[in-house]
Amino acid sequence: TANELLEEYAETGTLAALPLGHFIDGAFTRPAHNRTLESFDPGRGEAFARFTAGTAEDVDQAVRSAQKAFETVWRDMAPVERARILQKASQLILENLDLLAVTETLDSGKPLQEAMGDVRGAARTFEYYAGACDKLQGDSFPLGPNYIGYAIHEPVGVTAHIIPWNFPISTAARGFAPALAAGCTVVAKPAEQTPFTALLLAKILSEAGLPDGVCNVVTGTGAETGAPLTSHPQVDHITFTGSVQTGRTVMKAAAEDITRVVLELGGKSPVVVLADCDKEQALDGVIGAIYENAGQICSAGSRLVIEKSIHEEFLAELVVRVKALRLGHGLKQPDVGPVNSAEHLAKIAGFVDRAKARGAKVAVGGSITQDPATGKGWFFEPTIVDAVAADDELAQEEIFGPVLTVQVAEDADHALELANDCQYGLVAGIYTSDFAKAHRLARKIDAGQIYINEYFAGGIEVPFGGNKKSGFGREKGLEGLKSYCKTKSIAARI
Ligand code: NAD
Repeated sequence: TANELLEEYAETGTLAALPLGHFIDGAFTRPAHNRTLESFDPGRGEAFARFTAGTAEDVDQAVRSAQKAFETVWRDMAPVERARILQKASQLILENLDLLAVTETLDSGKPLQEAMGDVRGAARTFEYYAGACDKLQGDSFPLGPNYIGYAIHEPVGVTAHIIPWNFPISTAARGFAPALAAGCTVVAKPAEQTPFTALLLAKILSEAGLPDGVCNVVTGTGAETGAPLTSHPQVDHITFTGSVQTGRTVMKAAAEDITRVVLELGGKSPVVVLADCDKEQALDGVIGAIYENAGQICSAGSRLVIEKSIHEEFLAELVVRVKALRLGHGLKQPDVGPVNSAEHLAKIAGFVDRAKARGAKVAVGGSITQDPATGKGWFFEPTIVDAVAADDELAQEEIFGPVLTVQVAEDADHALELANDCQYGLVAGIYTSDFAKAHRLARKIDAGQIYINEYFAGGIEVPFGGNKKSGFGREKGLEGLKSYCKTKSIAARI
């Protein structure tokens, strides 16, 4: 239970109670090689648990298990039976809310209240796709009186899921649930920084009645575990969520076998704030968009594109609010938690230090810091850099930390130009009280999703994915379900 974990953690600073081994064929299995890696608590910057370092043989065992389960039990199970298992899984995720959230916080560093939101979101994802299992309707075609023409959606087969460290259980759920609903089986590789909640989710699915081998999780590094999974000949579909650089490698691996791939990559999303907006609404939106999860969100609103006439007043108010944000260990439910690793902290600091050397106007923050209660952990101050040029790396590159870049626009047209002047196209936010203007901008911004007057609006019902270098393919919604299907058309002369 969560309390047992917290007690053990308080006494020893470690968690031996977390599962060791992969989850393959319905059980935790420890391979003979017995190689392990350490997982770190970012809030203290110290190792707290160990997990198995998978190999190509471990991956092969998991894929074979998934292939067998696909052919012998899951593909042909009645959709309503699949629905009942996924619905039960949703219920069990909520029953394990505290356990999953505490584990997620220790592993990723994110504030506990955010981890709880992620776990509730995972339960909702299973509920949504449970309801969709028996609604994967096909189509029929008017070929004339002497023909019957129809199309059906068949599951693609064994699906691989490569998961990043910033939303471990959310990303697992948004891949597993539609894949399972469609009749596919799963082999997942969580990030080496955050391996535990995907393992616990696989166990919960098993307890909900998922047959052995339908959902497998292999832990380990990208090179030793992720690469053999994405190049495994028996994998029929890859859902990759992570950086552009690794996405490129995964796409190349997929190209070898012509394997289907969905790429959910990075972002540098603009939040366009126009002079006629509701200021309170926009201030809340801008703060949440960049400081939630310490800015480590693919869809973070990391560029504030603000109309010149309100720039100074709005910035002054933002700075007041940023100074009031409380930093701390995730278990203490701070406003802003640590970032995920020492290497990542150095990368964030590098961006800001280089900007300072170029003479950047740092309006607030700008430095590495620690948990004020313990003097430990990997923290970066919530930061705003003002008046950044469109071609500056701060406006073009994904920092993936609590660093907001401000770009000043002459008017709405200029704001649109700045919003689109970026290699990424994941999300854009728009704050204005002119609804027609909002929708005109929404049509012209090149991004997979647009949020108007509320950042991160919309839930599992709404398709999600990137344009430009943010990737392609869509997850969530019914479109996410179709990603795991292949359409078969049948035409018959009668
Ligand atoms: P990353 O690309 O370094 O790692 C992601 C995953 O890929 C990890 O599990 C890693 O082990 C694995 N991996 C590494 N090398 C591999 C290889 N050769 N073959 C197969 N797998 C390999 O990314 P990260 O730093 O963990 O995550 C942060 C990135 O993820 C950011 O760019 C962020 O924007 C992006 N992201 C995107 C979305 C989205 O929905 N678009 C969501 C969350 C995160």
